[in-house]
Amino acid sequence: MNWLQLAQEVIDGKVITNEDARSILNCDDDDLLPLINGAYHIRKHYYGKKVKLNMIINAKSGYCPEDCGYCSQSSKSTAEIEKYPFLSKEEILEGAKRAFENKVGTYCIVASGRGPTRKDVGVVSEAVEEIKEKYGLKVCACLGLLKEEQAAQLKEAGVDRYNHNLNTSEKHHSYITTSHTYEDRVNTVEIVKKHGISPCSGAIIGMKETKEDVIEIARALHQLDADSIPVNFLHAIEGTKLEGVHDLNPRYCLKVLALFRYINPTKEIRISGGREVNLGSLQPLGLYIANSIFLGNYLTTEGQEENQDHKMLEDLGFEIELMPKQEEVFSCH
Ligand code: SF4
Repeated sequence: MNWLQLAQEVIDGKVITNEDARSILNCDDDDLLPLINGAYHIRKHYYGKKVKLNMIINAKSGYCPEDCGYCSQSSKSTAEIEKYPFLSKEEILEGAKRAFENKVGTYCIVASGRGPTRKDVGVVSEAVEEIKEKYGLKVCACLGLLKEEQAAQLKEAGVDRYNHNLNTSEKHHSYITTSHTYEDRVNTVEIVKKHGISPCSGAIIGMKETKEDVIEIARALHQLDADSIPVNFLHAIEGTKLEGVHDLNPRYCLKVLALFRYINPTKEIRISGGREVNLGSLQPLGLYIANSIFLGNYLTTEGQEENQDHKMLEDLGFEIELMPKQEEVFSCH
């Protein structure tokens, strides 16, 4: 396969066929660098050498009645994690300060649970108004299944983006979760879009899905028109239903990222949870495909040190995308 040619066709508007998609996932390891080069051709066309940084605050941890098989915060999980109720506005603001100082453009306020209460939405809304004023960061909220009026309130408060992942294919969904449906997830993304909030929706790879499922997820996200696509690689946590599942290797993860780029050429593709564990020493190669990463820790697992990520980006010669208030502080140095 001439990957560069396929990449150019994608830029020119081609939607890759299922056969192309299978060729990407089954690409021989010897052909991996040309595949990445093709994906980089697309990434460069739309994003140059820019990298978007995101940082998560886990605003509420544990106590979730849902049964997502990958999640340590589910009440079905016996994983030993720190559990706490919704953080205060002040604590959320402290996290935003840290994000600002680390050149992170998008601050992600994430909470466990099926969906937010009125009070949760109130705290997030107040925090977002102050974050915007003080730090000028983009804010992404991830609070579970959302109702129309909650979406309207978050939009009003200034929330830029809302994350709700499809996680896996429609077919595979009930293997992962039974307490809500795939349609519930799609529905929340549609509500978010309807209220003018930018939709962020992604996948978790490595949950016993087939390659056909992976192709389906990438296509479903294309259809949903998600602006931002986090691609997580399962970091199986002891005590969760998926404990002991370690089906991924770094080369396959790169092929998955390439697939997402060829199917969603113009979108922000973020290497998300499980990056360090699954891509290992090949992490930098992922950034020739994806244009976004999380800095710092994930929800209940640790990421690598922020300065290691900054160093990786510097070594790659990539440029962090700053928000205007950050430009004022950092660009003169
Ligand atoms: S992923 Fe979210 S909804 Fe599912 S169990 Fe974890 S916290 Fe609950």
